[in-house]
Order: sequence, then structure tokens, then C-alpha cells
Amino acid sequence: MAIRGDMQFVVLLLVMTLPIAVAFGVLVFFIRRGAGLAADGAERCAECRYNLTGNVSGVCPECGTAFGARPVDSAHQT
Ligand SMILES: [Zn+2]
Repeated sequence: MAIRGDMQFVVLLLVMTLPIAVAFGVLVFFIRRGAGLAADGAERCAECRYNLTGNVSGVCPECGTAFGARPVDSAHQT
């Protein structure tokens, strides 16, 4: 019977494709999670969440809130 052979081929195809689909889904999940962690790792203003990475003034340029300036920066300003 040719139909029985087709069914076996479909089942084999599913068995081979499923792990690949799952692996791809896990890969996308970790890539997205990694990107989220990188965004959270950035220094942000406590008031407006503005990205303060690389900011040396000690004041948020978006809302003017002073944030924890680095000791080197405060010594330079005073
Ligand atoms: Zn701000």
C-alpha cells in the first residue's frame, strides 16, 4: 500500500522537524532575552528612565534630575 508508506514518511518528517522547530524557538527566546538584559544593564534615570550611559554631567539631560555621579566626576566639578 502506497498510503501506508506516505504516512510513515509524514510521521518521520514530523519527528525530524519538531526538534528543529523547538530548538529554533528556544534560540529566538534566548536572543530576545539577551537583548532585554543588555537594555536593563544600561544606566537609567530614576525619574524618566532616560538612558544615562556615558553621561558625565551627573544630571539627566531629559528631566534635570541629578543622579549618583561618579566620585571622579564630582571631584572634577567642585
Ligand atoms: Zn530623567
